[in-house]
Amino acid sequence: MALYVQKFGGTSVGSVERIKAVAEKVKRFRDEGHQIVVVVSAMSGETNRLIGLASEINDDPTPREMDMLVSTGEQVTISLLAMALQKIGVAATSYTGAQVGIRTDSAHTKARIQHIDTDDLRADLDGGKVVVVAGFQGVDDDGNITTLGRGGSDTTGVALAAALKADECQIYTDVDGVYTTDPRVCSKARRLETVTVEEMLEMASLGSKILQIRAVEFAGKYNVPLRVLSSFEDGPGTLIVAEEEDNMEEPLISGIAFNVNEAKLTLLNTPDIPGVASKILGPIADSNIEIDMIVQNVSPDGNTTDFSFTVAKSDFKTTQRILTETVIPSVGGGELRADDNIAKVSLVGVGMRSHAGVASKMFRVLAEEGINIRMVSTSEIKISVLIDEKFMELAVRSLHTAFGLDAESVSDETA
Ligand code: ADP
Ligand code: ASP
Ligand code: MG
Repeated sequence: MALYVQKFGGTSVGSVERIKAVAEKVKRFRDEGHQIVVVVSAMSGETNRLIGLASEINDDPTPREMDMLVSTGEQVTISLLAMALQKIGVAATSYTGAQVGIRTDSAHTKARIQHIDTDDLRADLDGGKVVVVAGFQGVDDDGNITTLGRGGSDTTGVALAAALKADECQIYTDVDGVYTTDPRVCSKARRLETVTVEEMLEMASLGSKILQIRAVEFAGKYNVPLRVLSSFEDGPGTLIVAEEEDNMEEPLISGIAFNVNEAKLTLLNTPDIPGVASKILGPIADSNIEIDMIVQNVSPDGNTTDFSFTVAKSDFKTTQRILTETVIPSVGGGELRADDNIAKVSLVGVGMRSHAGVASKMFRVLAEEGINIRMVSTSEIKISVLIDEKFMELAVRSLHTAFGLDAESVSDETA
């Protein structure tokens, strides 16, 4: 008998029929004698619909009210799934995040889980019940409902699995595992049998929305066996592992991630003196806005320089406001250029550590397609480039082929 936490995403619970199918799947595991905690997302499209309603009423709603609103989507699916389970003879109870004791900090819309109380959960499981928990939500110390950021049900699943020391956390979704890149963008993408926590972390943080980054962090930190599987067909899925066992086979590049949710801001002609970067980025960081890529140009005249950086599109307007109202008056100079038609495309692979020439090959492939690179950033196991958004799919497909990732091709180990 094993304890599984099974998380079903929006598409997997996107209709009454699909909720019934999830109940049947859960029943099969119960019938085999396993203990099951199910975590569900809102029905597909529901969270976006709720956000749309809010924007029709107020273009700058308070984060607390946003959480109150968007957390309702998951409350619908937990109750419907519990009813579906009960209907087929499986004892089940649904709980909101607050009811099940998922304590978070108070950072509304991007809260972090701090503690999970598992006593009540355990009692239900030991009593033979399936526990159905609302993903994506928690409660802060003052009793306010919080949410964990888009895609946060993955994190609820892994955090519950960690707290309960589950045998496996299974993320059921609309693809049958983690692929070399998003199969919706590249039809030649290939499913990976395994992927390391380190690579998955990079892929998630670079835009692959298959798993929320915090979920992968939890899995790494608490050694939670984590598997991504299809809701609709049986198969082994992809196991997220601590380290690849067979390094001989280690490919140079494991995957390609992309992100079209960032925007680029450039301050032209800022004074090239110590302290300017901190004056530009300080007020932005103070507003809890994360900055991603940063480039400061060489100063041609020794007096002024151009300073560019990227933020999430959702923070684009606020960042522009901070730059115009606070930063430019304080640092002096500076014309602002803002561009949200950009995409970041990244190659990820632990094999990159031991190979030179990945960047030059990447740049050559992009050049052959006539794609201009606007910014570059690297780490030990990834290279990211910023390009025009309209070239994103072309860039992903050409790199996928060039680095030997295509489903039918033999892996190309040379850079
Ligand atoms: P869920 O609603 O189940 O949480 P998501 O839409 O959040 O599902 O994540 C699944 C989607 O992630 C897939 O439909 C796929 O388009 C996308 N995706 C992005 N990158 C990858 C990748 N490397 N491998 C598999 N799927 C990916
Ligand atoms: N429903 C939330 C979202 O759409 C959480 C999730 O699906 O994981 O982001
Ligand atoms: Mg998701």
